[in-house]
Amino acid sequence: MIYLDNAATTRMEPGVLNAMLPYFEEYYGNPSASYTFAEKSRDAVEYAREIIADFIGADPEEIIFTSGGTEADNMAIKSFTWKSSDRWVYTSPIEHKAILNSLPYKALKGEVDSNGVLKPSGFYVMPGDLFSLMYANNELGTIQPIKEIAQQCRTEGVYVHTDAVQAFGHIPINVKDLGVNMMSVSAHKMGGPKGIGFLYISSDTPMSPFISGGGQERFMRAGTENVPAIVGFGKAVEIIKPVVQERYDKMKETRDYFEDKMVDEISDIVINAKSVERLPGHSSITIRGIKAEELLEYLNQNEIYASSGSACNTGDEHPSHVLKAIGLTDEEANSTLRFTLNHENTKEEMDRVVKIVKEFVMNKRS
Ligand code: PLP
Repeated sequence: MIYLDNAATTRMEPGVLNAMLPYFEEYYGNPSASYTFAEKSRDAVEYAREIIADFIGADPEEIIFTSGGTEADNMAIKSFTWKSSDRWVYTSPIEHKAILNSLPYKALKGEVDSNGVLKPSGFYVMPGDLFSLMYANNELGTIQPIKEIAQQCRTEGVYVHTDAVQAFGHIPINVKDLGVNMMSVSAHKMGGPKGIGFLYISSDTPMSPFISGGGQERFMRAGTENVPAIVGFGKAVEIIKPVVQERYDKMKETRDYFEDKMVDEISDIVINAKSVERLPGHSSITIRGIKAEELLEYLNQNEIYASSGSACNTGDEHPSHVLKAIGLTDEEANSTLRFTLNHENTKEEMDRVVKIVKEFVMNKRS
């Protein structure tokens, strides 16, 4: 098979499962218990927290483990606005549904250009408000100028959250350098297990608890920690840390090769967001006159796995809100496929994908 849906989820890094296994049957103590046996689990959670914090230049206490990216996004918006209900939230129209469906009624969405980059807006912001803007888009791969926006927000006393679910582990990120107050991350998008993620919350960001109960995760997110998953997440970060740049370069080269070949071999296609900074493995391609769902089924029959939009929208008959926001018509949006590579994909695999896509397109257009 050729797997090209790494934005939906990734295979766990070799070594992650083995790191997790002892925490199911051997060291199964509750990290909150006070006896020596539980120290093993507690130490493992804190070790993972340190590894992860170090990777993004944060303090370990600023990492709040969650069940994944969706929960981290919900926490960022809700725990922030619950603290003071007169706060407004500003965001973009191309955020993940985990943000868009969490917005309070005092929320404003800006506009993006044809590449998915946020346009400067005429919003009248007030100190204490929140700006939430994704680091990189899950359908296009477009990277936003977060650092510049965060700098500007800080001078106006506005807090900044970024959803870095797609970017984390694929490009280097330092939260202090970036200047954000909050950042959402999910482990299963970068070789870690599913069902675990975190929200980075800088120590100077006022927040209400998200899940009430015991005192876990600094009272922000009560509930016994998912120890094996946290351990696996830490292990995945340890594995990728030294190879982020190397993998970035390899993925980008293969992705660019694929796009060049698609353009050479198939007429009337558009590579979306090609002219701006993008994640190295993302490729969003509109093939005019073709129904993406039919092509995906043909690819599926040939054991090539890609998608038409975000995995969370599978089964949704409406054209992608991201593609609509960058100005595509319904027809163009429904003719758009998302291929997301990882560092293991090869040029030979890309040759095969182009061949199969071309076969389908020629057949439809003849
Ligand atoms: N945010 C973005 C940008 C995503 O791409 C996703 C998943 O596709 C999420 C949030 C949700 O993450 P999770 O699947 O861990 O809940």
